[in-house]
This record gives sequence, structure tokens and C-alpha cells, in this order.
Amino acid sequence: MLELVEARILAEQMNLSICGKRISKVTTLHSPHKFAFFHGDPQTYDELLRGRQIGKAAPVGGQLRLEIEDLIFVFGDGVDLRYLNQDEKRPSKHQLLIEFEDGSALSGSIQMYGFLSCVNESDFDSPYYLVAKKKPSPITEEFDMKYFLDILSAPGAEKLSAKAVLATEQRIPGLGNGVLQDILYYANLHPKRKVATFSEEDKDRLFHSIKSTLAQMIELGGRDTEKDLYGVAGRYVTRASKNSVGKPCSICGHPILKEAYLGGSIYYCEGCQVLVK
Ligand SMILES: [Zn+2]
Repeated sequence: MLELVEARILAEQMNLSICGKRISKVTTLHSPHKFAFFHGDPQTYDELLRGRQIGKAAPVGGQLRLEIEDLIFVFGDGVDLRYLNQDEKRPSKHQLLIEFEDGSALSGSIQMYGFLSCVNESDFDSPYYLVAKKKPSPITEEFDMKYFLDILSAPGAEKLSAKAVLATEQRIPGLGNGVLQDILYYANLHPKRKVATFSEEDKDRLFHSIKSTLAQMIELGGRDTEKDLYGVAGRYVTRASKNSVGKPCSICGHPILKEAYLGGSIYYCEGCQVLVK
């Protein structure tokens, strides 16, 4: 799934690989998918985009915004994007294929569900996009200790769990259930731990873990559970993820556990992340 780390890495790679290229053809829904959500009619995308030139890409929370002259293309959630060079085989299944005049292409394949929106930005009223544009990204300086403490002390936040306060309701756009796991692991906080039980020290550790964990993930080209624009997995070794479940914690040796919680899996170490009630 796209989260802010992936959106940022994909944007950098797009700026190197496709920026300035001219679109020769767009194919949508080559493989039908129930949960591929397009803005408007995907059948019009070819007519809309053919002949236009690719501009700059940038992350907006966990979404990826690509300028295409006076239009934007926004990729969200479960869209798997790949750059394909001139002689590279096109994937057998895809929901989006943007081909360029030089023979290279960009493909988009939906895993569980995904959003693909080609729009005029002034007409784009997706609340998810607008909130992500407005709030500061946790990797910026604007997201400082004071801003973070305001999130934790907002009315009702004390009743929420660590997972709920960080990764739901777009309190922090782009911080999703994926990057969340290692952030909490390095902050020694159980995902179900209630905000009301956080000590000043816990809050401080959590803030610094958000900053340092995300910075490391970006530095190392993304998480090892995700692939980049070239299909290469990131070099950041996740400690609490599907890759480490059942294996001993690298700090205390307890096995990493997996559990379903709040509409997604949580991964944690019982030894390092004790559930204080
Ligand atoms: Zn541990």
C-alpha cells in the first residue's frame, strides 16, 4: 500500500524516469478490477492524456500527485506502479498503462483496491486528498513536538489507542498501518495502548520514533515489504511486519506477534511493547 515513504520514493523515481516524456497512448482497465476506482470515466483517459507531457511528481500524504500539463494524476492506496523501459515486457495484468513516445511506459496494477484519478486540480474535491494537502507531513519541520502534542491532547484523543491516534482518521496523512508498526516498535508502545496512559517520556519517545523511523525508511529506499518504481524491494529491514512475524525480536528475543485490530493487522513484540492498561 502507498504510504508517505513509498509516495516520496516513487515521486523521486518518476522525476528521474518519466518527467518530460510525451504520452502516446493510455490504456485503462485492460484487466477488469472491481475495486479500481477511477475519477470520471476511465474510457476517456486516452483522449484526455494523449499528446500531453509529463511534469513533476510529488507526494501528498500517502498519495502521489503527478502533473500532466494542466491536469494532475493522483495515485492512491493500493496502486502498484512500475516503470517499463523500451524493451521491457508489459505486465500481463494491469488497470492502467501510460505509454510514451520513446517506447517506455508506466503501468499501474491494483492489488486489493486503489484509486486512480486524472483531473483538473481545481475540480478535485476528494476529502482524502484535500486533508492530506492541508496538514503537514510528519517528515517536515512544521510537524514539531508542539504540533504532535496537540494531536495527542485533542478532545477525545485520550480514549484512543496508539494505532488509532496515529494511523486513522487522517490525523497524520500518509502515516498508515504499514509504517506505524515499526514506529511503535521503536517507541516501545503496544499498538492497543491508550493515549491516556502515555507518560511524558512515552510521548517524547514516540515523537522521535516517528521522525527517525520514517527518515530511515526513506534513506534506505523504502521498506523491505514494498517495491519501488523498478520493482525492487526497499532496503529498510522492517522489525514488526509480515516479514518478521514469528521470528525473535532483535532487541529482546521474544517472537514478533501478529493480531487483527482496527481493520488491519498489527505486529508487535510482547517483550518490548508491554500493554499497560
Ligand atoms: Zn522485543
